[in-house]
Amino acid sequence: MNWRDTLKEEIRHLTIARRLRIRFDQNKCAGVWQCYEACPIGCWTPDLEARKAIFRDEGRCIACGACVLQCPQGAIELTT
Ligand code: SF4
Ligand code: SF4
Repeated sequence: MNWRDTLKEEIRHLTIARRLRIRFDQNKCAGVWQCYEACPIGCWTPDLEARKAIFRDEGRCIACGACVLQCPQGAIELTT
């Protein structure tokens, strides 16, 4: 693959990622904070009293998928 094809492929992936949004089911959340620890942007806040995560800053999410992979409860999805 030459650099033009590589660049086109990267742009295609970024375009797809920009359309993805977090869907969070707080009822499934067990408050283990992996999402909070994994997110490179700081989109998650632990609610220590309720033992539930809070998703903030949707506009800053880069759709990297780290929180989705780390959540043991399957409480987080990336969807279009
Ligand atoms: S990783 Fe999943 S279960 Fe743990 S706090 Fe985050 S959303 Fe809740
Ligand atoms: S997808 Fe990535 S940037 Fe978005 S909330 Fe999850 S860990 Fe953070």
